[in-house]
Amino acid sequence: MSWDFSTDPELQLQLDWTRRYVDEVILPLEVAGEGLNQRQLDALWQPCKDEVKARGFWAPHLPPEHGGGGKGQMALALIHEILGRSVLAPEIFGCQAPDSGNAELLAVGATPAQRERWLYPLLAGTVRSTFALTEPHNSGSDPTGITTRCVRDGDDWVIDGHKWFASNASVSDFMIVMAVTNPEAAPHRRAAMLVVPCRHPGVRLLRDVGTMHHPEAVAEGALMDRIGGHTEILFENCRVPLDHMIGQPGEGFVLAQKRLGGGRIHHAMRCIGQANRAFEMLLERAVSRSTRGKPLGQQQLVQDMIAESCAELEMARLLVLRAAWTIDREGAHGHAARRDIALVKFVVPRTLLAIVDRAIQVHGALGYTTDMPLEEMYRMARALRIADGADEVHKQTVARELLAGRQPVAEPTDYLPSLRRRARELFGARVAQIRQGVR
Ligand SMILES: Cc1cc2nc3c(=O)[nH]c(=O)nc-3n(C[C@H](O)[C@H](O)[C@H](O)COP(=O)(O)OP(=O)(O)OC[C@H]3O[C@@H](n4cnc5c(N)ncnc54)[C@H](O)[C@@H]3O)c2cc1C
Repeated sequence: MSWDFSTDPELQLQLDWTRRYVDEVILPLEVAGEGLNQRQLDALWQPCKDEVKARGFWAPHLPPEHGGGGKGQMALALIHEILGRSVLAPEIFGCQAPDSGNAELLAVGATPAQRERWLYPLLAGTVRSTFALTEPHNSGSDPTGITTRCVRDGDDWVIDGHKWFASNASVSDFMIVMAVTNPEAAPHRRAAMLVVPCRHPGVRLLRDVGTMHHPEAVAEGALMDRIGGHTEILFENCRVPLDHMIGQPGEGFVLAQKRLGGGRIHHAMRCIGQANRAFEMLLERAVSRSTRGKPLGQQQLVQDMIAESCAELEMARLLVLRAAWTIDREGAHGHAARRDIALVKFVVPRTLLAIVDRAIQVHGALGYTTDMPLEEMYRMARALRIADGADEVHKQTVARELLAGRQPVAEPTDYLPSLRRRARELFGARVAQIRQGVR
């Protein structure tokens, strides 16, 4: 019997410390940074990053040979559950998106010289990075349709194209750009990945796009000057040396898969952390506010919200942990892992949205105000039904995995007339005897 819901005592110590640190230090730190620009924020955050490094808890997503904790997906899921309570905590622990995914990509795809130049500074937290795949005029759900081009000219790659939602590009040092090297090749062999400095001739950062999260950033030329923006970028005759390509021409999609390996569920577990925090607010409010002579928590409709939230949260959490367990056992690319990852991707954001929504409801007008973090949590959570791949795409993956290998049948396996025939063959005589002998 090897199913086990307990946590290794050594990891539990790390989780306990992390939980205290997030709640007591990072949540106030998040608020302390309101209104500061990125350079000011970096100065504010650095002592906390140093403390996390000194504890040995920095970059838990990477194996020890690349300077990380390397404890596997199950441990990471539990760590991310705690970090998810604060949007800032992953940054302070050196495992924030998109840097974490980019580091995973560079760790598997970069040459030693490229690692030296881009991976190690990224791991040390001295630079920031961006991932630029999505384009405004092509469906991000089918990235084989991107049109940003990359053509070799002498000792350079020349990039031309239009990207958007390149998160953090306005404050990053470099970006990993997906561009088509051979439009005639098979769809998954068309593109490559290149490292491009964010401030570079031929790179035009048009704006950080206004979103539900940051509606204020809309005008051309408006850049947020802090992480959290989603940048629209034009590449116009942008030249980078040949050694800026990660892997070979045509290997972009293979590398993209690697980039999205284990890291695919960290987002999900962070959402569980956010949902936990919203649920705690809901519970606190339920015992603190009274109406018609009794606390909200004694009103049956509020009790329904509490019970539904608890059930949904536990189900989603177990689903993420099962996905982590599957990845640890068989890697991120097996059938079972692919199914579990895709399940998690659409179940968790909707669970988070539902719980934050109920927490807002139970807080009444206060929940709708910017005096509580709930309205921002709601706006951010909405993005996750799109940002990490649209729900519909993940549902398609689940269905495809479940249908793979199934053969059509002439008659349903559970067709009752046939089952009765089989029952008569197996048990007919015994049933007849019983009918006669047992009254
Ligand atoms: C907050 C945020 C951050 C992001 N960060 C980055 C980043 O750092 N780098 C980057 O490159 N991109 C990033 N993106 C872009 C993101 O990856 C894409 O938005 C996503 O892949 C969907 O692509 P799209 O927006 O082009 O929508 P489309 O592909 O045009 O899809 C639109 C809608 O069509 C429906 N749909 C799509 N496919 C199917 C299907 N097969 N069956 C049924 N319906 C379907 C879905 O409802 C979907 O929402 C980010 C997006 C957001 C919102």
